[in-house]
Amino acid sequence: MLGLICRTLGALEPNLDWRAFGLSSILRSQSNSLKSLLSLEIRPMIIHRQNRAMIILLAATFFIYPLLAFAQRPAASQEVKYSPQLASEIKKVQQAALESDYAYRQLAHLSNNIGPRLSGSPQAQAAVEYVAAELRKLGLEVQLEKCMVPHWVRGEEAGALTEYPSMAPNTTQKIALTALGGSVATPADGLTAEVVVVNNFEELEALGRNRVVGKIVLFNAKFDQRLADNGFEGQAYGQAVIYRGIGASAAARLGAVAALNRSVGGADYRLPHTGALRYADDAPKIPAAAVASEDADLIAHLVSEGKVRMRLLLTPQTWPDAVSYNVIADLKGSEHPEQVVIVSGHLDSWDLGRGAIDDGAGVAIAMQTAQLFKQLRLRPKRTIRVIAWMNEENGLAGGRAYANDHKDEMANHFAAIESDLGAGHPLGFYAQGKPEILTLLQPLTVILQTQGAGVTRLVEETGSDVAPLGAAGVPTFAPIQDARTYFNYHHTAADTLDKVNPKELQENCAVVAALAYTLASMPQALPR
Ligand SMILES: [Zn+2]
Repeated sequence: MLGLICRTLGALEPNLDWRAFGLSSILRSQSNSLKSLLSLEIRPMIIHRQNRAMIILLAATFFIYPLLAFAQRPAASQEVKYSPQLASEIKKVQQAALESDYAYRQLAHLSNNIGPRLSGSPQAQAAVEYVAAELRKLGLEVQLEKCMVPHWVRGEEAGALTEYPSMAPNTTQKIALTALGGSVATPADGLTAEVVVVNNFEELEALGRNRVVGKIVLFNAKFDQRLADNGFEGQAYGQAVIYRGIGASAAARLGAVAALNRSVGGADYRLPHTGALRYADDAPKIPAAAVASEDADLIAHLVSEGKVRMRLLLTPQTWPDAVSYNVIADLKGSEHPEQVVIVSGHLDSWDLGRGAIDDGAGVAIAMQTAQLFKQLRLRPKRTIRVIAWMNEENGLAGGRAYANDHKDEMANHFAAIESDLGAGHPLGFYAQGKPEILTLLQPLTVILQTQGAGVTRLVEETGSDVAPLGAAGVPTFAPIQDARTYFNYHHTAADTLDKVNPKELQENCAVVAALAYTLASMPQALPR
């Protein structure tokens, strides 16, 4: 799914790597087979007879869906079994994870004591040193592997409407906004211009250069919370985030002086959501910011009534690329130390909040995995490699550097797991690779089913940082999480520790650690 979206977006904007925009979550809402059934077979019947819809959905729930689930299981003749010892060790790992507070304590430290960890910042460096030290404490072999990261520093940011229909004289209306990561600055004393509002690129093109030149363009595409509420949060994000990603250059090509986008997120608490933009080479770089959804509504309303002018001040700075690191920590395998199972999250975060759900949680889950094996004195056959990736948010430098530096070792990369969609209740796991992988992991899903996490889905990609490994043939995995509220806080000042439920974090640790242990211990090789 992500691959498809990346290819579609790539066609719109070649040279642009959409993974750097955190689109990996898009793929996470796919139960493709059920979806296609609903759209291809059931939908026409719903159109014919509305009152049949419920019967059909019930049929899908009670009949078709179980068939699909059954279809994912191996036939009896090829039933996969693990040794009683392996099955019992997986259960031990799962149980210990459900009782441990290690991950939550690590997440609390990352979020509260270190805080936001934007690439190139002193906090990102402190986080690298902290995670490395903690993993050394567990007895792992730790390496810092270098990568060069963008170093963008947020400055002042302010917006105000200075002219609009029926404005009380000598007043303004404040606009809640935040600069997009990578944005250039406005002039030091700000800029003031008329605002035009479009809902999509077609409307922008229809306005044409004459009505865009010299203006501020607001892209007002709404995040579809209804999709997110039904487990398609990735699609909701993907539909809206394109305007954040390439809106500024599209507006600049028509002569706009600045670009705004409606925040890409679900909750309406007047929170602006930041995130990366990417300037195209063929357009002037203009300042760009995200406005809170309420303020996007306000501007759209006033623009529908008449002329609206806005003052915008953004003073971010782009410094030379900085040296940073992926933290890489090995728990050497007992039988095949050369074979590696990666378990990972990304250590960098946006700067507005404290990077708890994105993605301190993923790093804490990965750390907990190694901690559990140490605590239980379990040593898997293959090497467990904990990785805290750097620079997922605005460049993917860490993921790319790792894939490049280790390109000759891909055959020995048995599998890679990344958790990067918060820490909501897990439902199972995604896998990217051959369908037979799910058959080989079926005994694990039976164990995970006891905590309500027995769902498995094949997808085209599972996580941004492991995507380069997936492209090199390494099977990749991610937990399937309840992410209905994830995009309420994503990339906002509200990405704070309280958004992570300690019990649900434990559940995620149980899924990831059990999956990692299985992958590192199973007798079979995974097909490629
Ligand atoms: Zn993330």
